[in-house]
Amino acid sequence: MENIINTGKTYLMNNYGRYPICFEKGDGCKVYDKDGKEYIDFLGGVAVNSLGYGHKNLVNAIKNQAEKLIHISNYFWIENQISLGKLLAENSFADKAFFCNSGAEANEAAVKLARKYAYKKYGSHQNHIIAMSGSFHGRTLATLSMTSNKKYQEGFGPCPEGFSFADFNDIESLAKLITENTCAVILEPIQGEGGVTPSDISYLEEVKEICQKNNVLLIFDEVQCGMGRTGNLFAYESYGVTPDIVSLAKGLGSGFPIGAIIATDEVASAFEPGDHGSTFGGNPLACAAALATLNTIIEDGFLKNVCDTSTYFIEKLNELKEKHSIVKTVKGKGLLLGLELKIEGSEIVKKGLEKGILINCTASNVLRFVPPLIINKEEIDFLISALDNILEFYR
Ligand SMILES: *Cc1c(COP(=O)(O)O)cnc(C)c1O
Repeated sequence: MENIINTGKTYLMNNYGRYPICFEKGDGCKVYDKDGKEYIDFLGGVAVNSLGYGHKNLVNAIKNQAEKLIHISNYFWIENQISLGKLLAENSFADKAFFCNSGAEANEAAVKLARKYAYKKYGSHQNHIIAMSGSFHGRTLATLSMTSNKKYQEGFGPCPEGFSFADFNDIESLAKLITENTCAVILEPIQGEGGVTPSDISYLEEVKEICQKNNVLLIFDEVQCGMGRTGNLFAYESYGVTPDIVSLAKGLGSGFPIGAIIATDEVASAFEPGDHGSTFGGNPLACAAALATLNTIIEDGFLKNVCDTSTYFIEKLNELKEKHSIVKTVKGKGLLLGLELKIEGSEIVKKGLEKGILINCTASNVLRFVPPLIINKEEIDFLISALDNILEFYR
């Protein structure tokens, strides 16, 4: 592996902090590095590989579509894109979809749609967007403008204007920021990068109310918490609060790059031909992967299993918390879970790699678990026992 990594250092830009491991293949929830070492994957390509590795439905869909038609321009009607839009509409509040290639692109599209909608309906002054403390929405310039951690912006300014930040889970803070210039509020129902922090149910209900009262659109960034991650297909369902626009990506193609926004007819109608687009967005191959993923997730019993697995996982994490005083809280919902520590977590992640578990650490002290949605109890037991062992060291 050392050779490969050294070549990588020569030819790749140095924008990622990478662990010195290179993977060869995966199977179910296990991945194997170039030396043949096995790891159980609780990172899932950062909440991406929802069906794990080598899932028949996904692999066959990609194979079959690749042989027929990989890409064709959006100047034409793309059947898989239509089927995917229909399936998303049938399983959500939304009526229409737009497809792109990543989470940041989906959020860019959400902002453009919200602004265009307000521009047409209320006038050009109504273009401000309110985001939340602890938010993460991507790495493009506009999504950096709505990502609260300023370290991501350093050296890249100026970023687009018209964004401000309310304190997450604090309705008074939001109420103070809304003006006649506000066109949308964007938030993650469960903050991922910000430290696996769910919003409170009553808070989201109040956000919805305040938005409606002020003609402000509500955008949920479900790039990380959507697509079955919470045990519901969409995170908004587990809150019973319906937004106007939802952005999706990560788990949507189970590893094949695809992003989307979905919205009501009323809001979606703000886009007219020429208003927005993407060369690759919603191409036949990407949509085949997403169709296979979505069809699998909505199969009978799949999400019920995610809920059962989550209950078991949370129980086991709580046992770790009881046993190790270094653990502060167990956070999250479904299979987007975190273990908040009283110390930084990066060293524990490295020790995990040695023991054959892939996890990561966000917000410096939250170990994050976002495994494939098909993770089983035996694999969870392996993780818990490895963590138990590692945490023993910090007594
Ligand atoms: C990962 C993530 C994004 C950015 O997605 P990319 O595909 O990396 O552009 C945006 N929002 C949330 C909540 C995310 O977790």
